[in-house]
Amino acid sequence: MQVAEKKAVTIKYTLRDEEGAVLDSTDGRDPLTYLHGADNLVPGVEEALQGKSPGDEVTVTVPPEKGYGKREDGNVRNVPVRKLPAGRLQPGATVQLNTNHGPVVAVVKAVKGDYATLDLNHPLAGKTLRFELQVVEVRDATEEEISHGHVHAPGEHH
Ligand code: ZN
Repeated sequence: MQVAEKKAVTIKYTLRDEEGAVLDSTDGRDPLTYLHGADNLVPGVEEALQGKSPGDEVTVTVPPEKGYGKREDGNVRNVPVRKLPAGRLQPGATVQLNTNHGPVVAVVKAVKGDYATLDLNHPLAGKTLRFELQVVEVRDATEEEISHGHVHAPGEHH
């Protein structure tokens, strides 16, 4: 069976940056199962896997436009400290913000007086990424998975 829309696809992957350093990998843990064609993975990865079969391996270089997007200066904002969750605010720390679009994780860049500078860009935004992909398994997604837009673990109902 080939990778196509409405298939549940299981893959192993290693994600590297442009210098070849490993950023993420399924090595040493369970492979990843996702619903193809439902924006579960970044576009560049789904395009590379389209039409592939179990056992196939593909390496793809994904530019920001087909990855996690470009960095937006507008996503760096000054936010009053009193509006942030209690805790130690220091550069490099992450805080969860509740926005109109749901929870977003932001990285604290600086704290000055009553304001913190937060970077709401995805940590991988603006990066060109290299994905080494291996297709492990392809199956038809269930109606429930298709309607939910994601895969379920065996026996999972919610
Ligand atoms: Zn579900």
